[in-house]
Amino acid sequence: MEGIAIEDGFPADRLFGQGFSYTYDDVIFLPHFIDFPADAVDLSTQLSRNIRLSTPCVSSPMDTVTETSMAVAMAALGGIAIVHYNNAASEQAAIVRSAKSRRVPFVSDPVFRSPSDQILSAEEFGSSPFVLLTESGSSKSKPVGLVWSVDWLNSPEKSAPLSSHMVALPPAVPSSYDFDQLAVYLSENEHNCVPTVSEESGEIVDVITEEDIGRIRRYPKLGLPSLGSDGRFLVGAAVGTREQDKERLQHLVKAGADVVILDSSQGNSSYQIEMIKHVKLNYPNLEVIGGNVVTAYQAQNLIQAGVDGLRVGMGSGSICTTQEVCAVGRGQATAVYKVASIAHQSGVPVIADGGISNSGHIVKALVLGASTVMMGSFLAGSTEAPGAYEYRDGRKVKKYRGMGSLEAMTKGSDARYLGDTLKLKIAQGVVGAVADKGSVLKFIPYTMQAVKQGFQDLGASSLPSAHSLLRNRVLRLEARTGAAQVEGGVHGLVSYEKKAF
Ligand code: NAD
Ligand code: IMP
Repeated sequence: MEGIAIEDGFPADRLFGQGFSYTYDDVIFLPHFIDFPADAVDLSTQLSRNIRLSTPCVSSPMDTVTETSMAVAMAALGGIAIVHYNNAASEQAAIVRSAKSRRVPFVSDPVFRSPSDQILSAEEFGSSPFVLLTESGSSKSKPVGLVWSVDWLNSPEKSAPLSSHMVALPPAVPSSYDFDQLAVYLSENEHNCVPTVSEESGEIVDVITEEDIGRIRRYPKLGLPSLGSDGRFLVGAAVGTREQDKERLQHLVKAGADVVILDSSQGNSSYQIEMIKHVKLNYPNLEVIGGNVVTAYQAQNLIQAGVDGLRVGMGSGSICTTQEVCAVGRGQATAVYKVASIAHQSGVPVIADGGISNSGHIVKALVLGASTVMMGSFLAGSTEAPGAYEYRDGRKVKKYRGMGSLEAMTKGSDARYLGDTLKLKIAQGVVGAVADKGSVLKFIPYTMQAVKQGFQDLGASSLPSAHSLLRNRVLRLEARTGAAQVEGGVHGLVSYEKKAF
């Protein structure tokens, strides 16, 4: 059907050439022609020039979104996580190293104690079903056994030293064992748990239980995991463009980061161009993604400086106040279309960053030319996001905050944000909370299924096919009036329950 352009709706170049800044909700695709099943849609894509993903999802480098747990889950799903840098360089590198030392899609995060310690309340187990006993009680010393919370709860001698509740640990296996290898090992050896240890340091990495294996098995089947040339999970990291970020970069490269994102709201700067050149000169095999950009001019400058990918979005984030504070930015649908159109000419993939709150937004971002979507709020509130759940007005929530919020700036080094010379801090983000969403290992596969259905409606069986249908003016769009947007949502009901899966 490609090539048949009946005059109905607007081709993208016309719609986005009229001087309006469109958000995802402002526009709607007109359906095209279906001649394949939704399951035949291939969402595999490029994160950057040389990094391929089977799932077009990237987690945002924010301290309430991406640390070890998110990193292993996103890589296991075929996407990638970008570790935030609102911490010391050594801490960020430790997160990258920890994620790269695992091959299972979760982190059990056990509590460590020594055999002579006592446990006085069940809360001390945290969310783990056991505490791990090591010689000194630290994660770095030799493991000696574990105490199951049920054994401790059922014991009349709760205040006795933990050694009296301890059971021996089975022999450890390398942490490079993947999920299937661990499942087979546990069932063949009839163990209910097994410690995994790092081949490099010999340190304990985690303890995997039969319960973990059963839980993961109940989730939809994961896609092809994202693995680097080292055979380990792909992990990315964010850095800034200050002089001290060059030292941070060294730590990250040593820890095995596969890609770095230069994290800025306005990436078209001499600082960023200098940093891109520094990365390319000193780490020629490291992929570097620049941004953020929202115009063709900004994109062109970073492409010329040598970026392997571009991150698009200014003022579109759910926690963002940039457009309000600085009067600068662009509607995200327009930004993605404009930047992707220019980046395509140089073969540079685009990440559509921010403003994703449903699967329809992902379809729009990808069809408008992005190769991946980066998400903050969509992933925040998940089991894998950092931080503890709390209850607000009877709802289970997790904190989610902008990296330019006063709270995040205060936590990070002042030099990272707004510079050492500029004494007055102005926030460009807020602190909020998002509802508990469960595990990304469950809701991302469902979300991707919805995205495939959107692609099918458009007659696009892959991202390259969608991009070429758009460029060839076969796919058509329209701007939605306010009433059309109301009509496009659930309306006119007294009450309803919205459940997608
Ligand atoms: P930034 O580090 O790029 O900029 C902070 C300030 O430092 C800017 O004035 C910048 O020009 C300056 N700067 C950077 N490198 C410098 C150097 N080498 N020498 C001198 N000055 C230098 O960070 P930002 O744009 O303020 O963003 C901070 C965080 O907030 C990031 O995580 C970013 O993703 C997020 N944020 C994103 C958006 C968005 O719309 N995407 C908007 C605001 C904030
Ligand atoms: P979300 O997915 O809509 O929640 O947007 C996430 C994106 O917002 C991030 O990937 C950043 O680009 C951007 N962002 C992060 N922190 C801030 C901030 O403090 N102000 C503005 N934008 C931010």
